[in-house]
Amino acid sequence: MQKEIKIKTNKKQEIIDITDKIKEAILNEAGEGLCFISTAHTTAGILINEISDSALSSDIINKLNQLIEDSGNYRHDIHDNNASAHIKTSIVGNSKLVPLHKGKLVLGAWQRIGLAESDGPRERKVLIKIIEG
Ligand code: ZN
Repeated sequence: MQKEIKIKTNKKQEIIDITDKIKEAILNEAGEGLCFISTAHTTAGILINEISDSALSSDIINKLNQLIEDSGNYRHDIHDNNASAHIKTSIVGNSKLVPLHKGKLVLGAWQRIGLAESDGPRERKVLIKIIEG
């Protein structure tokens, strides 16, 4: 099974909880295996953490901004002024694998799946693929 969902981001940087959209997309699908969640973007990634706490989402964004300055004399900025967003997304990563048991995502009590936008607002695509096994 493979599906694609679209996520509209609203800010330059934000973390959007996409857990429920993924659950909805895999409803009635295979029972056992892995759920692969991926973006085909270079300035938006996928993370798993306690992002139901908006304070933590802010902390993650603020720390990424401290680590990766907006203007760092980046060579990429000469033709596309968003090198810092690419670097932040390299740190976050563009995909995650979540175990699937009896058709449900196996997540910890506080784990949520988030799309980490670093160069919005944009419409982002998230690919969801179930690997049965
Ligand atoms: Zn770029």
